[in-house]
Amino acid sequence: MTAFEPKLDDDCIFCKIIKGDIPSYTVYEDDMVKAFLDISQGTPGHTLVIPKTHVPDIFAYDTDLASAVFARIPKIARAVKAADDKIIGMNIVNNNGSVAYQSVFHSHFHLIPRYSDKDDFRMIFKDNSKNYDETDYTKLQNAIKTHLTD
Ligand code: AMP
Ligand code: ZN
Repeated sequence: MTAFEPKLDDDCIFCKIIKGDIPSYTVYEDDMVKAFLDISQGTPGHTLVIPKTHVPDIFAYDTDLASAVFARIPKIARAVKAADDKIIGMNIVNNNGSVAYQSVFHSHFHLIPRYSDKDDFRMIFKDNSKNYDETDYTKLQNAIKTHLTD
């Protein structure tokens, strides 16, 4: 693994949080990541996990950064869940691109505690499988496989 050389962007709100120029309700931090309460509190305990280097989205991660960030998420998720015994599940959401609801372009993972199917979080997965045959699936499979690089 190469040495971690963080790069921060002066115009980025999450880089300002990393530097301490903007306050945050930090729940965990180490040399690689910071986790703090999302100001919106979509559900109580809604927490963001960010790498302590400016990467705009998931497409900009190298393997070392991904290993470091993903390795820390379960530990933080467990602590968020343990903080309230009413939490019975959790959605972990990572938005990439404004079309995918990304509004802050410093990559982050939402840890969204779930309390019931009537709390304030919703996701819709439409089942389009009736529109796909084996040829369609194979074409998609091959298009993705040919682009796998580190
Ligand atoms: P996304 O829409 O996936 O890019 O999520 C960005 C999130 O950052 C939103 O849920 C905002 O509520 C949250 N957010 C923006 N500014 C702050 C801030 N200063 N402190 C904590 N959360 C923030
Ligand atoms: Zn940033």
